[in-house]
Amino acid sequence: MLRQLKASLYNHMGELADDKVICYNLVTSAVSLLSRSEVEMIRDPSTCTKPFLREALEAGFLIPSDENEVEKVLAVQRMNNFSTRFAGFQLLPTTACNARCWYCYEEGFIKETMSDDVVTAIPDFLESYMGMVDDFHITWFGGEPLMGLDIMRRLSREVIDRCDKHDIGYTSDIITNATLLTSDVARIIHEECHVSQAQITLDGMGSNHVARKRYVDPSITFEDIIDAMETLVNLGVRLLIRLNVDKENLDDCLELIDRLGKLWARNKNVMLYAAPLYGNRGNDKLLSRDDLDPVYDRVFRRMIDSGWIQTLDGLPMNFNNATCSARMINNFVINPKGDVYKCEHLLSRADERIGTVFDGVIFNDAMVHWTLPSLPEKCLECSYLPACQGGCYAAGAMDFGFERCPHIAFITEAITSAAGYLLSKCEREEEL
Ligand code: SF4
Ligand code: SF4
Repeated sequence: MLRQLKASLYNHMGELADDKVICYNLVTSAVSLLSRSEVEMIRDPSTCTKPFLREALEAGFLIPSDENEVEKVLAVQRMNNFSTRFAGFQLLPTTACNARCWYCYEEGFIKETMSDDVVTAIPDFLESYMGMVDDFHITWFGGEPLMGLDIMRRLSREVIDRCDKHDIGYTSDIITNATLLTSDVARIIHEECHVSQAQITLDGMGSNHVARKRYVDPSITFEDIIDAMETLVNLGVRLLIRLNVDKENLDDCLELIDRLGKLWARNKNVMLYAAPLYGNRGNDKLLSRDDLDPVYDRVFRRMIDSGWIQTLDGLPMNFNNATCSARMINNFVINPKGDVYKCEHLLSRADERIGTVFDGVIFNDAMVHWTLPSLPEKCLECSYLPACQGGCYAAGAMDFGFERCPHIAFITEAITSAAGYLLSKCEREEEL
């Protein structure tokens, strides 16, 4: 007897040319081009033909009618959040920075650098997690972490030694503005600190980028940053370039997508993504939800034309189980004072502190909040849940962004239009 079936909550569909519909599923990451009649079969599974039924089940477009998809997604999320195979630490050697980005959420933070006491206490604190995990990861963050390079070197040496002693893996990445990344510094962080990925943010082309970053040293140029990126790429460090987009720099960012594409679009070790600049709502430079679809339509098309997106995998049409690191039980942020938090956005809130590197972590109200598996009702009903996993709690708590939702929840038309554009471009190229 045929099982009772229903359409997945996490199917997304968009109309393309030639009467085709693109359908993707955010749990299985399957993408298919469907005819109108196939779309109807998904809406009413009792009308399915046998061959299409098999295809639709495999893709996850149809699921058993008694399956609780929401709980299935949440079960996978909890497995990830409560995994004790991995521990991750975001270390801030300093909150000082040599840039003054107008949008920086750390603007009101006290600028301080880790004291010797804190640097000495951190390895013991970190080692207390090493007995239970297979892999250890450190993200260097600030301020500008390279202003605390000596601290990075000292801590890296110590922590790598202890990971070796416990026979566990060690990896590291850095979020940096790249202004201090000379070739010597790049070599040090790669070879000594085992940094294998760097995230660098650009705010536009040339003088626009510099004007928005407001470097303390006015001799720093945009080309210096590109050179630093090149140095990292040549060393084999994975480069993650984030473009901060708002209403004022969109054209600049589009130009930048071309320029960076000529350098690295075909390099598998370099990734580029555009993120709407977040700041407190009410700032009219920032993109609103309604701006996102038309903006991303232009961004995606430019990324396709410049080679950054070559297949549908390059569009956000897939499952993502790694969104909010703060929800993972063994993931912590350590500020220069040695205080321990879950999220880097909440370091100014005393009630978010969950411990110190001197005394360890306690299961206080903040810790309970982060490890609670519950999500707001709106997330439980939302078709983006597998791609966003319930979004960013800090965005809601601190009133930035789109009330915890990521921008991908507001760019469905841009995604399907870009998919259609990419598919027809590929067809044209095949015909040549
Ligand atoms: S945060 Fe927003 S987009 Fe994500 S699941 Fe919740 S409601 Fe949906
Ligand atoms: S709450 Fe938001 S900012 Fe904090 S770690 Fe999670 S996703 Fe990142």
